[in-house]
Amino acid sequence: GAVPQRRSIRELPDELISQIAAGEVVERPASVVRELVDNALDAGASQIQVKLMAGGVRAIAVEDDGLGIPLEELPLALKRHATSKIRSLDELESVHTMGFRGEALAAISSVAEMAVSSRFEGALHAHRLDARSGELQPAARSRGTSVEVRELFFSTPARRKFLKTDATELAHCVESVRRHALARPDVGFTVWHEGKLVEQWRQANSDTRLKDVLGDAFMAESRPVYAESGPLRIYGRAGLPEAARSRADMQYVYVNGRYVRDKLIAHGIRAAYEDVLHGHRQPCYVLFIEIAPDRVDVNVHPTKIEVRFRDGREVHQKVRYAVQDALALSRSRETAPAGV
Ligand code: ADP
Ligand code: MG
Repeated sequence: GAVPQRRSIRELPDELISQIAAGEVVERPASVVRELVDNALDAGASQIQVKLMAGGVRAIAVEDDGLGIPLEELPLALKRHATSKIRSLDELESVHTMGFRGEALAAISSVAEMAVSSRFEGALHAHRLDARSGELQPAARSRGTSVEVRELFFSTPARRKFLKTDATELAHCVESVRRHALARPDVGFTVWHEGKLVEQWRQANSDTRLKDVLGDAFMAESRPVYAESGPLRIYGRAGLPEAARSRADMQYVYVNGRYVRDKLIAHGIRAAYEDVLHGHRQPCYVLFIEIAPDRVDVNVHPTKIEVRFRDGREVHQKVRYAVQDALALSRSRETAPAGV
């Protein structure tokens, strides 16, 4: 074969570093929605609006009524590895915010056009910063922040080609908001597409929110899960076997408020259904796991969708028994004679 030509080692330009890093975080419009809603929640928003055009490919705007960003910090918000959420390793290990990597806004602005408008508490008016031009201008809005993202992957056509139809991208965006909505009944969410309201979840208590998001049928065909032991608390709802579906599209697991996909937890849940679900039937469930922050590492994956437990076996077992109890409870109740 050809003799490889050695090229000298060079440091990558900042812009390329950001674009490479963005590949890990921003896969499609729904990833942008997830990051922007995370930020709104971290800012203490009580109302969050998500506005999409062409499935989010053409435009995504997320508006919140949170604390806002002070004018002098607006440019910093867009810088890589710049965050207001942690200051030290100690704080990383007990992090209670969704974000902490200081990467999302920088990543998004390296693969799309972006502008951030914000009005900090007590500021006389808002300011809008255009990421590309760096132009900073006074703007009109009440307290809070709006982030507008346009033409995702406009400068990286190879990545743009991986996007699916607008309808599919829209469905992923809505699913991303749904995941947040299940975990945060105290926050109101609206999703708009092409100027039309597609979802609205009003501030509610947790049961009402579950019903609003997952529907009456799920509530009727599921049972409450509750287990507590030491630093671990598990709650939520487990669907009865008859509510099982052919697709695994109603399975929500949260660790300390963060939506995760965890093989260990999924396996524990599956084991709980082992005697009652056969073949490829997929159970429906929403499980919230609260655990002392020093017992779980959330800094495993750039999107934080994976976590690592200090004691995985214990979590697996407790999840399994918690779900089993919920299912068994319903069985015994259903077979008990009237009056018992
Ligand atoms: P991270 O969330 O990991 O800190 P981001 O790039 O997502 O990193 O955001 C950078 C910083 O910008 C945040 O730490 C926060 O201070 C600020 N910020 C971003 N979005 C908002 C928002 N919606 N409201 C208030 N501050 C925000
Ligand atoms: Mg963030």
